Amino acid sequence: MGKQDVDNRFKKFGTVSFTSITRINDFIDHMEKGKVMGTRCKDCGMVFFPPRADCYKCLTSNMEWFEVSGTGKLLTFSKLQYGPVGFEGDLPYTIALLDYGKYKVFGRIAKDMPDGDLQVGMTMKTVVNPLSGGQMNYVFQKA
Ligand SMILES: [Zn+2]
Repeated sequence: MGKQDVDNRFKKFGTVSFTSITRINDFIDHMEKGKVMGTRCKDCGMVFFPPRADCYKCLTSNMEWFEVSGTGKLLTFSKLQYGPVGFEGDLPYTIALLDYGKYKVFGRIAKDMPDGDLQVGMTMKTVVNPLSGGQMNYVFQKA
């Protein structure tokens, strides 16, 4: 049985969101190549991060990938002393929101960045961050 058979069966599962998640799995492939990507609607130009497989404005799946490149402005940040279940081992860490103009990226500040260096309005970049065990995420670094 090929991979295609599995994909087709999932289509019968009946929920739109389930299919959508499968269709944005390329996000991980891009990260393995060092790129953090969002999606852009080819019809209206709206951009999405985290990536979406469908544009909610046009109700189309006519989407393309774009790279979160360049720098964003630090809008806000918050240091977490308590985390959601599953993230306790990472504490403390700092969550933040970067403004890239047409879209915003929510994520974490790089571990090696001192708290005192963080300032609202500063420019930062989004980079892929390899973790142990082949896992990965993305973090914000000083640009
Ligand atoms: Zn659209």
